[in-house]
Amino acid sequence: MTTADLAGQTSTGAKLLAAARTVIPGGVNSATRLVGPPYAIATAAGAYVTDADGRRYLDYHAAFGAILLGHAAPEVDDVVRAAIGGLDLVGWGVTEPEVELARLVTETIPSAEQMISAMSGSEAVVQAIRLSRTVTGRPLIVKFQGGFHGWHDAVARNVISAPDRAYGNDPLSRGILPEALDSTLIAEFNDLDSVRALYAAHPDRIAAVIMEPIPHNVGALVPDQEFVEGLRALTAEQGSLLIFDEVITGFRHALGGYQQVCGVMPDLTTFGKAMGNGYPIAGLAGPRHLMEHFSSAGGDVLLAGTFNGNPVSSAAAIATIRYLRDHPDFYQRTHALGDRMRAGLTAACAELGIEGTAAGFGGVFALYFAAAPIRGYRDLMRNADAAYVAFHRRMTDRGFLMLPLALKRNHISAAHTEEDVDRTLEAACDVLRTIRD
Ligand code: PLP
Repeated sequence: MTTADLAGQTSTGAKLLAAARTVIPGGVNSATRLVGPPYAIATAAGAYVTDADGRRYLDYHAAFGAILLGHAAPEVDDVVRAAIGGLDLVGWGVTEPEVELARLVTETIPSAEQMISAMSGSEAVVQAIRLSRTVTGRPLIVKFQGGFHGWHDAVARNVISAPDRAYGNDPLSRGILPEALDSTLIAEFNDLDSVRALYAAHPDRIAAVIMEPIPHNVGALVPDQEFVEGLRALTAEQGSLLIFDEVITGFRHALGGYQQVCGVMPDLTTFGKAMGNGYPIAGLAGPRHLMEHFSSAGGDVLLAGTFNGNPVSSAAAIATIRYLRDHPDFYQRTHALGDRMRAGLTAACAELGIEGTAAGFGGVFALYFAAAPIRGYRDLMRNADAAYVAFHRRMTDRGFLMLPLALKRNHISAAHTEEDVDRTLEAACDVLRTIRD
């Protein structure tokens, strides 16, 4: 919506957005927040968000996956309320919630012996990369085309690239030093040979391979088991670290993250988003011999951050993880709802003669407008992006919030019900018909 579109509009949301634009560049605090209505949000509870004009949306956006138990989940918010007023921020020594959180994380994430806390997934990834460069003494990082690991320099390239930029140098932003971009190499997901080729071209120079175990930043590419096992063996053989960026998959797909699902252990794991059910917290975990490189343990990698391990965010994460630990049926339920959604979307496409592939894992789903198989970014270039965006846009217009951007995924939380899924599928059938016709 442009300022011209807004002129003369009197809705509360339009007024708020107009006011926002005078004091916040573009009116929003993240560039992907201003696509499709609603533009101004007033409240969020359970599986729903309500905009400033009172319209309710069944939320599949889930704050990019940060909401796992539903909005304002009492299991988390009650604990946060209790934490507020007890201990705010001291910035000296350690607090009980930090220790309890690290204990829970190291108990639940199979490859974790120690963890450090951070405020965002991007920060956790920065630390993982610095640590990898330090322990290997090597400069280069490998990431996959389509993978997103945060907004910072070391990884801010080659996420959703136009076909002529894919696998080339496709920075997400201006202002990044060319040396930083050149230090990040790009491979193809589910294609071990593309990683082998980078090792052959840069012998003894690659510090780490970083991957989203399921690249949800391009929907849901599910890894072949041989690919993950092959990467594990290859990185070990080459003396590099393997980093699983479980910022989306962590806690969402299984209590122990995707590493628990696939049984392949990375050297380092980053997590964030869902672990605090909407409160800002993230972390990096790994074995003690690597984690003790942090300066807090007398090592050579700086560990700093005013808000790291703050008691309120830590309390939110403790409450979320305890809930998940004590309710294993959460995973059965969300996985079953995800399966129901994917089966329904597949059936709708078949019935309407639309070339579509309902992809995903657990409670995450995406409907690609392309024929299967879709295993890597090369396959995604066959996706009809305009249909994908139109599908999300029209679903959102009908009250099912799905971010209308190419390849954005959708999330089912503990607050969604079978009835919600069935209503969504009913609307999806109508919308798919409009896309076909
Ligand atoms: N890693 C992955 C896989 C992500 O999806 C994101 C954010 O979308 C990040 C890292 C960065 O996390 P944050 O936005 O909390 O900095």
